[in-house]
Amino acid sequence: MASSTKLPQGLIDLLNQAQRLRRKGYRGRFAPSPTGPLHLGNLRTALISWLRARLKSGEWLLRIDDLDTPRNRAGAIESIQSDLHWLGLDWDGPMIVQSQRRELYENVLSAFKLQGKVYPCRCTRSALAEINRSESKNFIYPGTCRSLRIPWSMQDGRLPSLRLIVDKEFSSKCGDVVLRRADGYIAYHLATAADEMFLGINEVVRGNDLASARHFQLAIIDSLGQKPLSYLHVPLFLNDDGTKLSKREQGIGLENLRLKGMSSEDVIGYLASSLDLVPTGSSLTAEELLKELRKSQSLIEKVLLP
Ligand code: GLU
Repeated sequence: MASSTKLPQGLIDLLNQAQRLRRKGYRGRFAPSPTGPLHLGNLRTALISWLRARLKSGEWLLRIDDLDTPRNRAGAIESIQSDLHWLGLDWDGPMIVQSQRRELYENVLSAFKLQGKVYPCRCTRSALAEINRSESKNFIYPGTCRSLRIPWSMQDGRLPSLRLIVDKEFSSKCGDVVLRRADGYIAYHLATAADEMFLGINEVVRGNDLASARHFQLAIIDSLGQKPLSYLHVPLFLNDDGTKLSKREQGIGLENLRLKGMSSEDVIGYLASSLDLVPTGSSLTAEELLKELRKSQSLIEKVLLP
């Protein structure tokens, strides 16, 4: 594991504080992007992640991943909050908003730079696609720009992206991770990995579409000199016959379910029965579901994918 001794004292203090929180008990989180209303998949992930935290008598944080500003939609944060309230999925403490934590991410990036672990990369999307064509399905950046002396400044109106030189263990899993994008935004993996560490999260439960993201985030966590946390994944929402939901169906949110006359109990029953946690047609509150699952904790474990 990489050493954290070269991190600035301020960051070390914050990490130690977070470690104390982590040791106190289970801390999970739900981290939607405010790109629109929560859809079926997000709602089911929120429910499972909430149940997991409550079954462990732990805390469940709500974090808004709003760093990719062009994708944010007005009113989305309010709609996420009201959907979670309506379903009875209560979160602990104040809502955390990534755009208010930019300084932290910038400080982590600066620390990595001072450690000599960051390099500018000017590979364009098309260059990466070209490399990818000849590689396997799981694209791993081969470190093309690592040994090139590329300027850190703007060129032709664009910044370079900044990549982290990952430890050997991760070079075959994810390759050098982008920490800052060429458009200047802090990258998702940096903000997420930093948040899990600095918020004291000890288990992440999220959608299976993000299963490979854990390697990128663990690489960053390792570079911070921190111990890994565990990641579990909620299966993707499929039709009854196992086929993928259409784009339109994927977009369905609570508003549409309410229009169909479904109560919050019906929705909880529907989401839970879609994973065989309760019989089809069940209608119950989140708290009632939690009570049921306390009787057989292993049920939720069977649902979660590694
Ligand atoms: N904000 C991401 C999303 O809504 C999820 C991030 C995460 O859970 O790590 O897809």
